[in-house]
Parts: sequence; C-alpha cells; structure tokens
Amino acid sequence: MMQLDTPIAYLKGIGPQRADVLKKELNCFTIRDLLTHFPFRYEDRTQYHLIRQIDEAMPYVQLRGRIDSLEIVGEKNTRRLVGLFRDNSGVIELVWFQGYKWMAEKLKIQTDYVVYGKPTLFKGRFNLAHPEINLATDDYLKSASAFQPVYSSTERLKARSLDSEGLRKLQWQLSAFISPSFIPENLSVEVIDEHQLMPRYEAFKQIHFPESALHLQKAERRLKFEELFLVQLRLLRANKVRTHSSQGYVFNRVGPLFTDFFNHHLPFQLTNAQKRVLKEIRLDMGSGRQMSRLVQGDVGSGKTMVALMSMLLALDNQFQACLMAPTEILAQQHYATITEQLSGLPIHVALLTGSSKTKARRLLLKNLVEGNIHILIGTHALIEEVVQFQRLGFVVIDEQHRFGVAQRAKLHAKGIYPPHTLIMTATPIPRTLAMTLYGDLDTSVIDELPPGRKPIKTVHYFESGRLRVNGFIKEQISLGRQVYVVFPLIQESEKMDYQNLQQGYDNLVLEFPPPQYQISIVHGKLSAADKELEMQRFISGQTQLMVATTVIEVGVNVPNASVMVIESAERFGLSQLHQLRGRVGRGADQSYCILLTGNKLGPDSRLRMETMVRTNDGFEISEVDLKLRGPGDITGTQQSGVLDLKIANLAKDVQLLQLARSAAQAILEEDPLLELEKNQTLVNTLNTNGREKTNWSKIG
Ligand code: ADP
Ligand code: MG
Repeated sequence: MMQLDTPIAYLKGIGPQRADVLKKELNCFTIRDLLTHFPFRYEDRTQYHLIRQIDEAMPYVQLRGRIDSLEIVGEKNTRRLVGLFRDNSGVIELVWFQGYKWMAEKLKIQTDYVVYGKPTLFKGRFNLAHPEINLATDDYLKSASAFQPVYSSTERLKARSLDSEGLRKLQWQLSAFISPSFIPENLSVEVIDEHQLMPRYEAFKQIHFPESALHLQKAERRLKFEELFLVQLRLLRANKVRTHSSQGYVFNRVGPLFTDFFNHHLPFQLTNAQKRVLKEIRLDMGSGRQMSRLVQGDVGSGKTMVALMSMLLALDNQFQACLMAPTEILAQQHYATITEQLSGLPIHVALLTGSSKTKARRLLLKNLVEGNIHILIGTHALIEEVVQFQRLGFVVIDEQHRFGVAQRAKLHAKGIYPPHTLIMTATPIPRTLAMTLYGDLDTSVIDELPPGRKPIKTVHYFESGRLRVNGFIKEQISLGRQVYVVFPLIQESEKMDYQNLQQGYDNLVLEFPPPQYQISIVHGKLSAADKELEMQRFISGQTQLMVATTVIEVGVNVPNASVMVIESAERFGLSQLHQLRGRVGRGADQSYCILLTGNKLGPDSRLRMETMVRTNDGFEISEVDLKLRGPGDITGTQQSGVLDLKIANLAKDVQLLQLARSAAQAILEEDPLLELEKNQTLVNTLNTNGREKTNWSKIG
C-alpha cells in the first residue's frame, strides 16, 4: 500500500532513471517529498483561444483542435517536425526541433488535442514551437482549471520529460490517493479550530489542484501556518525544556568589582537601553538556570560595555569569564579596550589567539587552569580542547553569526554546568528571522545609541564623481580626521580582487603622496603581525588613510576615523555595507560614508544604495536585505537547515508567523512540557518531524 514514506519509484511512470534524476535535482526521495514540491505559481487553463484571434500580445495560448498533418522537413540544423493544427477558426503550425522523431511517432493525426504554448511570429505567420500537447481526454479536461499548477523544474528533469507538465501529471496521479488516512492530521483539534485551518489532507489536495481562489488561499494558509507553527513550537519547547532542566550557576552577588567599576571606572553614563539589558542579564544569571541570551544592538550601540559589566558579575561570584571574537584584530581590540577600562582593578585579563607564541601560550594555559586569569579574550582558539579553565561561568560571543551552534556547544563542555552565554550581534536581523533562527534563545535589544552621536551622512557617487570624493577626503584629513577606503574581496575572484586592491592603493598613493599623507593597508594575506602593525599605525594616527578589504568589517573602533569610502559598493550586500559604515561615527565629529559604484547599476544594487543613503537604521536595512536576498543568504549556510521552509516565506508571511508563534506560546504556557492529552498529536508530530529531518540517505 502506498504511504507517504513510499519511495517515488513505486509511482506509475517513474522508472529508475526518473527516480534518480528526481532525487538528484529535487531531493525527492519519497511520495512525501514529491507532495511537498509545491507549485510556485498557477496558470489559468480554463480558457481556450481561437487560432484566428491569436496576436503577438498573447504570452501564451491554449488551443483545442486536431492535427491535420505531420511532416519532418528541413536539412541538418533546421531539421524539424511540423504539424498543422486546426480548430474551427483556422490553422497554425506546431514545430519541434528537438526530439522530433519521438514526437512524430507519438502524435496522432485527427485526434483531439489540447495545445499550450507561446505564439511566435515567423515570416508573417504564427507558430507554436515546442508546445505542451496533451490528448484531450476526459481525465485531462477535468484537470484543466483556472489554477493549473506550475512546478519548478531543471534541465536534467526536462530531459526526462519532467518539465512542469510532467511533474503536474505525477501530482495528478498522486492526488487521487489523497485522503484523511493517507495524509493524517498533524495539528491538534484545538489549534485547527481556533485558527480555522483547512484539514491537512484537503490542503494538500487544494494546493496542487485548487478548486477556486478561496480554496487555494485556505490551503496556502493552512500549510504555511503548519510549517511556521511547528518550527516555533519546537524552538519554544526547547527553550522551556532548558528552563526546566538546565541548571546554571547562580550569580546572586553584586560584589566589589562590579561596584568599584561602576562607581569609579565607568568612562560614561550607561544609556537606558544598556541598563535595561544589563538588568535582564542579571535576572537571568541569578535565576539558577543557565542563561542563553542574544543581545542585538546596532553597530556602536555599546554592546561591549554590557558584556564587560556582565563579566564583572561573574568575577564577583568567583567565576572566570571569556569573550570570543570572530577575528584576531577584533580580539586584540577588545583586549586593548578592556584592559584599559579595567586598569587599576585587581583583574587579570589575557589574550589568546591563533598566533600566540608557544611559550607564552603554555604559561597562559597554566594560569588559566589555576584560576589566575580572570577574563580570557580570544578567537576560535578558545574552544580548543587544551584550553581549560578553573571555573568558567560566563561566555560572551561577539558577532555570533560567525560561530556555529556546534562551536557554542564546545564552550558549554568546559564546566560542570554550561556557563551562562551572552551572544552579541551587530547584524540586526528582521524580527521574523530572529524569531525563527534564535527562537530558542532569550533576546535583548539595545535600541539606543549613546548620546551625542551625529547620524552618519551617506552619499552615493558614480565613478565619475571620484575627483570630488578625493577633494572631500583631503578636506577631512586637513581637519585632522582619518579615512577608511574599503575594497570588496569576494572569494571566488580573489586574485583579481587583490589586483584591484593593489591598484586602488597605488592610485591613492599618487593622489595622496607622502610625506604629507601616510597610508596603511590591511588585507587577509598579511601576517597577523603585519596586520597588527598597520592597524596600530592607523589607530595611533600615524597614517591618515586606511586601505583595507573587509577584514576591518567587524568591530574595529577608531573614533577619529570619520570617513568611510566603499569602493565598488555595488558588490557588497546590504548588511555588509551597514557594518562597514558602522566603523565611522564613533567619535564626536560628523561622519560620512561614501558609496562609490560603477556608472551602470542593476535594480537590486540601486535599491541597496538608495536604502543606505536613506536610513541608518540597521533593522530597517535588514528588512530590505531579507526581501532582496531571502533568508538563506542572510544567515549563511550554517543555519540554513532551520530555514528550510517549503512554503512559508519569512519576508512575506510576517503576520502568519506572529500568529503561529503566539499560538505556540499559548500552548506551552498552559502545558510547558506538552503533557496534556489534547496535545499528544503535536508531540507525535514534533517527534516524527524530527526524524524526517535527519534523513541521512539525503546527505552526500
Ligand atoms: P558595538 O555595539 O558596535 O560593539 P561598542 O561597544 O564598540 O559598540 O561601542 C562603541 C563606542 O561607544 C565605544 O567607543 C564605546 O566606548 C562607546 N560607548 C559605549 N557605551 C557608551 C555610552 N553609554 N556613552 C558613551 N559612549 C559609549
Ligand atoms: Mg562590537
């Protein structure tokens, strides 16, 4: 008996070869996979056109009639099959250049056909090249509707006659099996009633072959809701389980370090947002359960201070803390600012990176395990096995999107309880995405910049405006400011990019000659020591210009730098542009971001530039970014599994996502561990869905 788990090869018309190409091209292994290959749009196939009425403006026509004659004509390259197709109003040529022998054998003269294709004008007459053609059987006519599904396909599928039409035939065959027992309900009665959802089996039927616009709408709503709801339920349940079971160290003491720092060393007043987030963190850390909190805050919002003060709480409670940064430069910078801010306090801060020397490293590790180091700052090196703490209680991960979940887990393994974890990200992500990606974390938002910051002015220049830009840079330098000039570095074309960078550097040297001007250059091919040296020259003000690739993207802080010039800005994504812009505007001076692009811009690039010029709001930018790129690209591949949505769209289905999330919340509020009888359908679904996800046969 056919079931959802049945391999697709059991379907009529799917032999080993088609099964193979379906696996490879669509990841389709089972009937379920095929059923969830949803149409991406629908076509109206209820209307038939008359041959006499065809005109050029028609993108597609559907005709009903008979073939009068079939003939293979032409030589070599132009050899083709021509069929004369007739309806009551006239005659039109159907033409096949490929597979014409096979078509010639298959097609029958004087038999009713339905033909669908794009009319093209050739030598004053219309023809249809490679039309879709089907016998006008009762079954076929019944499947014609105002909502004929269109499926995405690939060249290799098409070569096996699995174009949209071929796939539609498979789905039509499948739709006959669809029944409540074939596609059992997976949501609870309560949820279905409350949100007035179409039954699941019905939705599957209607999504492929909708009876009406209303049916289609309901089917879509049902399937999207289901998808979003289950993701949310899973995430929120994970959070609840953590709350219930995962014990954490209790930091209930606000001790001398925190107090002393707060009273005597804090270089500025905290913003209200910083205070609020600190309070949230303190509550978490005193609760007896492990904290996993995400702090989102735009570039420059002062996340580091929040992290530092939280670390002091850990220290006051006799624990060690560590801060992990995604790049060596950033780790060094954190180390420099934090040691400075803590100077005068009895706190030992150490730095561990990939380039720490062996001897120093050994000593450091010894001090760490003996508890002589209180705060360890570093890169990925921190998660290595050899790095052992005496009592690690608190972990800060800066710029989280570069760390995978697995890496986070490694840090957890370093203590009796998992340490409290604070994840900081400066890449604001749209709310919908955050709910999905970080739905299992608690989140805080620093939605306020320190006072006195002037909004960065952003302008966009085409290449032709370069002279003016250079003039402006000179002016700013004469005012004592410093300038970044950033070049794109995109991995695939690395060589060329370095050439561009070098070329750009050479041009700048000509335009800004020594000794009046000094230029630093930093890129990924420099050794860590050279990078450090060049950075230091810029930080100390010996150089006025810093030419760099995106290595400076994350976190670098030079308050005197007030101009950010981004070369070939059209080659950067929005979030990257926003990150780069965040490198300036850190001091009291008016700062500028100059986007330089080629003279011709596509619509997407244009929108990116316009967005950057219009707003400084990272969240607004992230929304545009999501619409332009879709969720997968924004987050990189690491988390793409979470976002593997088949039908819902995080950029568009915002309301439905919110509904689904509150529905899941309501259920867990009443029944945190899903123990009630009425929720057992949901438990089953979560359990089986989990298994479906780890289908190892699909890997490799
Ligand atoms: P980000 O959130 O991007 O990591 P940082 O923590 O690097 O931002 O802070 C940016 C700059 O703002 C730093 O120079 C920091 O010292 C400063 N800063 C942070 N909080 C405040 C505040 N409350 N008032 C004034 N300056 C602040
Ligand atoms: Mg930062």
